[in-house]
Amino acid sequence: MRLVINESGLSTFKRRASRVYPREIYGILLGKKLKNSTYKVLKIVIPPIVESTYDYVIPDYNEIERIVFSSGLDYIGSIHSHPQASPTVSAHDYLYWDKNKDEVVGILSIRKRNSYKVTELKFWRKNSSLPVKFKTVKPDEE
Ligand SMILES: [Zn+2]
Repeated sequence: MRLVINESGLSTFKRRASRVYPREIYGILLGKKLKNSTYKVLKIVIPPIVESTYDYVIPDYNEIERIVFSSGLDYIGSIHSHPQASPTVSAHDYLYWDKNKDEVVGILSIRKRNSYKVTELKFWRKNSSLPVKFKTVKPDEE
């Protein structure tokens, strides 16, 4: 699997994640599924959030369906933050994986170090212990 992500969409998501810290934030990955299992993420949309704490986030799933439908893009998966925790799949994440039919789940770890925050991002596929390799591209490189 190859994952290619629009850089500006990702940096917008990271800024939002940093702003709501120490609560989690959630976004959906919209784009195109290409041949040879390449997934292009063109947009990361943050849906309305029902509940958000430091260790889980519940988005409005009905709104997500509406957003995906009206986007005209493929639903690739989701991304959310882990404040003060590693970028690995939690029990809660695993539980929701099938429900959402995520091809890939992105987890952004955010840790506060004195006055600044450091982040680490990993993408996961179901039943694979190794993270998915990804690269970011500027919109004009697409
Ligand atoms: Zn999680």
